[in-house]
Amino acid sequence: MELEQKVKQTLKKINLNKKEKILVALSGGKDSAVTAHILKKFGFDIEGFHIDLGMGEYSKRCLVAVKKLCDNLGINLHIYNIKKEMGSSMCYIRSAIQTGQGKGLKNCAICGVIKKWIMNREARKLKVNKIATGHNLDDETQTFLMNILKGSPQLSANSGAITRNISDKKFITRIKPLFYTAEEDIKKYSKKMKLPVVYEKCPCLLDSYRKEVRHFTESLTKKEKENIMKNFDRLSDKIQKLKVEEKLNYCELCGEPSRKKICKMCQMVKR
Ligand code: SF4
Ligand SMILES: [Zn+2]
Repeated sequence: MELEQKVKQTLKKINLNKKEKILVALSGGKDSAVTAHILKKFGFDIEGFHIDLGMGEYSKRCLVAVKKLCDNLGINLHIYNIKKEMGSSMCYIRSAIQTGQGKGLKNCAICGVIKKWIMNREARKLKVNKIATGHNLDDETQTFLMNILKGSPQLSANSGAITRNISDKKFITRIKPLFYTAEEDIKKYSKKMKLPVVYEKCPCLLDSYRKEVRHFTESLTKKEKENIMKNFDRLSDKIQKLKVEEKLNYCELCGEPSRKKICKMCQMVKR
C-alpha cells in the first residue's frame, strides 16, 4: 500500500530501531491512530500515551477511541488526566493564561507547549527512547509556510521527521512517521482499516492565521505539498545556520530541558 511504503521510507530515513521503546502520543484523532497502527504493524515496540484534556464530551469521545485502539492493537495505554494532575481542564488553564501572562497567545500555541512539556516528562519517567506524534505533511507544510510568512524560517530549524540538534539525557527525541504523508491519504487509510477515530475537529482549534494558511494549502495538490517539504529538507542546513543556537539547559523552576532560564511552560503557568 502506498501510504505504508511512504511511512516505511520515512522510518528508514530516520533510522528507527526495533529495539527502541516508542511512546505514541494518541489524541483520539486519525493521524495518531494511523501512526500507532503502522508502527505496530511494522513490528516496533510501542505503547500509547493519551492526555485527557478535560474538554467535555469531545475529550470523552477521544478517550473512548484511544482505549479501543490500544485494545485492538494489544498495547499498553498510559493516560494523563490534566484535571487530576494539574487541577483544571485545558480550557480553564488556557483562559487563565490568556488573561494573564500569555495575553495574545493562541489556543493551540498554549495547548501545544503544555502537551509537549507533559509528554517529555512522562516519557522520561516511562523510560522510553522516543515519542512518536501524528503530524502529517499538511500540518508540516502549514507550519513551514507560516514561519516563512512571519519572516522567521529559523523557527523550523529543529523540525523534521525527527527532532534535530537536540541531544540531552532529559530530552526525549520526537519522531513524526507521517511527516511526508498527506492528510487525505491518512483519512482514507484510517477508514479502510476501520480504526476507532474521532473525526470531528477539536472545539478549541481557533487559530485564525493557521486557518488561513490551511485554506491556502488545501488548494495545493499533494505533489505541490510534497515539493514544499522536499525543499524544506534541502534548505534545512541553511535554516539551521539562521538560528542563533542557545545551549540546552534546565529550567530553573521545573528542571525540564529549556533554552531559556525559565521554560515556556513555566513562563506561561506562573508558579
Ligand atoms: S487543536 Fe489546538 S487546542 Fe485542540 S488539542 Fe490540538 S493543540 Fe490543543
Ligand atoms: Zn519550567
